[in-house]
Amino acid sequence: MNTEHIIEAAKAIQQTILANENTLESLDRAIGDGDHYINMKRGANVIVEIEAELAPLKPSEALNKIGIKLLSTIGGASGPLLASFFISMAKVLESQAHENQGLKENGDESTLKIATAFAAGVQAIIQRGKANLGEKTMLDVLIPVSNQFVLLTTQNCDIKLICATLIHTAEQGMLATKDLIATKGRAAGLGERAIGHIDPGAKSCQLMIEAVCKLSLKELNG
Ligand code: ADP
Ligand code: MG
Repeated sequence: MNTEHIIEAAKAIQQTILANENTLESLDRAIGDGDHYINMKRGANVIVEIEAELAPLKPSEALNKIGIKLLSTIGGASGPLLASFFISMAKVLESQAHENQGLKENGDESTLKIATAFAAGVQAIIQRGKANLGEKTMLDVLIPVSNQFVLLTTQNCDIKLICATLIHTAEQGMLATKDLIATKGRAAGLGERAIGHIDPGAKSCQLMIEAVCKLSLKELNG
């Protein structure tokens, strides 16, 4: 992964968010306040708009800038949570870069490093939002995906298998939120009435993970 990949991923994320307007809006209308699509669209657009500012940066600097920008752009619960994901991911990549100083110059990050940084990003969301698995939030997608990502990379699985598995894991996690009662976020006030609806943040995370994994698969196939 280098900064060019990060920019391409941001564009793929923007496309999938815009293409799923109706889904995201109606999910948040059902168990939230209906603004999740607007929040995600605003965040996705602003990152693509700063492409020229991101391009000369190292991956860790680019991810940090993305986090800071999201913090000031996305409202709602999801803004600070997603911002802390990128800022923490950046911190881990930066500290790994110091450890490996002199070993490589091109700024490319290995899959294991990305998985470790992704896991740190998810931990930051857990800490910031004080939620965990099974509370009908974006974490029901992010935690299983993060666990699989670390497991598969430590087992040296190839990128094709990793991407295909993560797409599937994200989908399962997203679908599983349908049968849950929410204990965090706006939907927490609905009790049993939240059952039968997929969590909007889980859906947007699933879409983003799918988009980034499909992009990686496309790049592999040349
Ligand atoms: P808001 O809830 O403020 O209107 P959004 O609609 O943009 O903000 O985001 C709602 C999503 O945020 C939820 O669907 C859920 O996935 C996620 N969320 C809310 N609270 C938390 C939390 N404490 N931890 C993790 N995710 C959360
Ligand atoms: Mg909302």
